This record gives sequence, C-alpha cells and structure tokens, in this order.
Amino acid sequence: MITRLLNKVFRRAHALGRPPTVVGKGSHNIRHEQISQAARRTTATLQEHGYLAFVVGGAVRDLLLGVQPKDFDVATNATPEQVHALFRRSRIIGRRFRLVHVMFGGETIEVSTFRGGHDENAGTDEHGRILRDNVWGTQEEDARRRDFTVNALFFDPQREEVWDWHGGVNDLRVRKLRMIGDPVKRYREDPVRMLRAARLSAKLGLDIERGTRAPIRELASLLRNVPEARLFDELVKLLMSGQAERCVRALHAEGLDRDLLPTLDAALRDPVAERFVMAALANTDARILEDKPVSPTFLLSALLWGDVLRTWQAAEARGEKPVPALLEAMQAALDGQAKRLAIPRRFDAGMKEIWLMQPRFLQRTGQRPFRLLENPRFRAGYDFFRLRCESGELDIAIADWWEDFQHANPVDREALLVREPAAEGAPRKRRRRRGPRRAPGAGAEA
Ligand code: ATP
Ligand code: MG
Repeated sequence: MITRLLNKVFRRAHALGRPPTVVGKGSHNIRHEQISQAARRTTATLQEHGYLAFVVGGAVRDLLLGVQPKDFDVATNATPEQVHALFRRSRIIGRRFRLVHVMFGGETIEVSTFRGGHDENAGTDEHGRILRDNVWGTQEEDARRRDFTVNALFFDPQREEVWDWHGGVNDLRVRKLRMIGDPVKRYREDPVRMLRAARLSAKLGLDIERGTRAPIRELASLLRNVPEARLFDELVKLLMSGQAERCVRALHAEGLDRDLLPTLDAALRDPVAERFVMAALANTDARILEDKPVSPTFLLSALLWGDVLRTWQAAEARGEKPVPALLEAMQAALDGQAKRLAIPRRFDAGMKEIWLMQPRFLQRTGQRPFRLLENPRFRAGYDFFRLRCESGELDIAIADWWEDFQHANPVDREALLVREPAAEGAPRKRRRRRGPRRAPGAGAEA
C-alpha cells in the first residue's frame, strides 16, 4: 500500500520534472518591508493554519526588477472555502475562475488556489483554447500553467525565499521573456498570451526570447476566437500601462494589431496618422507618470481617428456638408470597429463628443468659441485638437490661438475673435501666452 503510494508520488514527481530552485534570503534583492502589510498578514495566517502561501506572479517579478508592484496576489493550496473561513473580511468571487478577495483596510489581496490539470481535464475549443480553469493542483502544476518563466515565481514573505520553477530568476537577469512549455501550444490554449508578450516585454524592457516570439505573427489571427470583452480588457491594460507608446509599437512589430485594431495597423503605416496616434499615447504615458487622471475614451477616440478622418474627408470631397459627413464617418468607424474589438457601446457617446467638437475648433468668429469653451468636455476636445495640430494634420497656429483664448480674460477674448471668416484657413501668427492675462482691475476671469 505504502509502496504503491510512494511509487505513485514518485512517478508523478518524475513526470512533472525538476524541483524548484529556492533562492534564500540574502541571495535576492526583495526586502520584507516591500511586501504590503496585507499580503504579509494573508500569507502568515494561511501558513499558521498549515497551508502553503506565497506572493506570486507579477509582484515577485516586479520586485526582483526593482519596481514597486501595483498590487499583490497570493497563491495557496487552500481551497477558496478554506481561505474564506480564515478571514472575516473576505468573499469568494468569480465563476469560471474562483478566487477569494481578502480585505485589509483599504487593500484587497486576491488569493487563488493552485491550479493544474490542464492537459487531462480542461475543456478546449477546436483551436486548443482553454475553456474551463477550476481544477485544483499542486504548486508545481500551478507554476507550469502560468505564461512566462518570469511570472512563475513565488515569494514566501515569512522565510523570505523565492521559489523558481522555470528559471525565471535567471531570465530576469538576462532580461528575457520566455514562454513556459511549447509556445505554439500555449498561444493556442490562450491567444491573449500573445498580447501579454508584447505588453510585458515593452513595459518591463525584456526581449521576447526567439522561440517565444517566432510563432506570434502566424498565430495572430487566433485572437479572433477570443471573447471580445477579454480582448478589450487587455487592450485597456496595455493603453493604461504607462508605457502605451512602447506597447503599441511592440504590438505593431509583432503583427498583432492587424486583426485586433486594423485602424491602428493602417495608422502606423501613414506618417501623419502615426504621429497623431503616437503623440496621443505619449501624452497619456506622461499623464500616468505624473499621476494625473487619464480616460480610455480619449485614447480610443485617438486610435479610431485615422478611420474617421479618412471617411470624413472622402465624404466632403464628394460635396457633403462637414457636419453630416463627420457624423456619417463616426458611425462607420464605430460600426467597423464593433466587428472586431467591440469597444463597448458605453464609450461611443464620449468618443462622439470628442470628434463632434473638432470642426468647432475651426470656428473662431462671433459667439461660437465662447459656447465651445462652456462645453463640459472642452478639455478633452481641445487636447485632441491640439494633438491633431501638433502631428501636422492642421496648422499649429490654430491650437495656439485656442491656448490664448482659453486663458484670456473676457475683454481680451473679444479682441482675439477672428473678424473675417475668410481668414479662417490662415490665422495670423500670434504670440503664445501662458496662463491668464488680466487687464488692470478686470476682476475674476469668466
Ligand atoms: P501586471 O503587472 O500587468 O499585472 P501580471 O503578470 O501580474 O502583470 P496579471 O494579469 O495580474 O498580470 O496576472 C497575474 C499572473 O497570472 C501572471 O503573472 C501570470 O503568472 C498569470 N497569468 C495571467 N494571465 C495569464 C495567461 N493568460 N496565461 C497564463 N498565466 C497567466
Ligand atoms: Mg498583476
């Protein structure tokens, strides 16, 4: 009986491969206090009750790279019910992928149970894509079902040890992003891993290892089988990563935008459109770096602008009036996109608002500029317009005029208005001013 059991255990261990490399305290750069209090308490409680518990995934990777992680995930051999029973402020979430959220003060720790058994138990679709993912497994199996070696690292905050199952520590040292297992099979199981390869390599400054990179171009079309909501989530993650410019270049370099965002692919082949898209991304990256708020709506409207502009200009060339032509172009761009990426309809209104404001920036006579200034979304519309000017689509002098106009006091604003409608296309050069200028005794700004 015991022999049988031992044999079974041994065969299983043998089949699964080597033990992990354990990197002890002092041999890695992670310090105890870099782990959030909540993550330490969660792992400590689980361990006190006899379970295995580690900080896992992106957080360990980021710490080894010397980057402060944005959140901490914990992995354990306790089931969701067992975890839930140990923490008063916790709840089980998810259906396809059940997890526990443990709350400590303002922090939430996501605790997942080791998963495994993909090969034998998981259902896949006809392209090899995994459909179910709730089979519990050992820590080793859990490491193996993760995507890249650098994401399969476990950190024990109590012992201060890194458990490395797939050589991730060394890959980080040589700055390589390497898929665990056979890359083709792993991309077929979950095509989103291709997007993650582009995003993580760009964000972390890692090279995609040759074998991991090679199949991407050919398999890119598998992204068509991924549920739209998931693709959209991944795209937003990429755009909001603070490294959107690099991520989008990586997407394009790997041919991943072709199916996901054909508009982007086309834009990056046209110099003016490319300058515009890249300026919008750089602008967002800079705002994230400065901790300023950013909106996906703004970026999405920028990504689709190339499409809108092309159709708009074509309709105008056929003799249609600007605003109806623009409305038609906006709808065409949104409908075209809905076939692929399915930007949720809740973003449509915001994007349309930004686009519809655009012709109004060319109207600088009478009351029109005053009315535009009162639009609650003026800031987004203006930032968008300014990027169009800066990328060479329009004369930068018009954007400078708006800069002056916004910051002028009411008296000066009147003086700035363009008197002759004929002068619209060729505005007079004006000195660019920063900040409000007040006429003596003019009081508060409007
Ligand atoms: P980020 O810093 O952007 O959060 P991350 O690697 O932590 O990067 P998450 O989406 O938070 O990304 O995923 C947490 C962990 O789950 C990853 O480190 C990886 O181990 C695993 N993982 C996530 N997505 C996949 C996937 N598609 N296939 C396999 N493993 C995945
Ligand atoms: Mg993460």
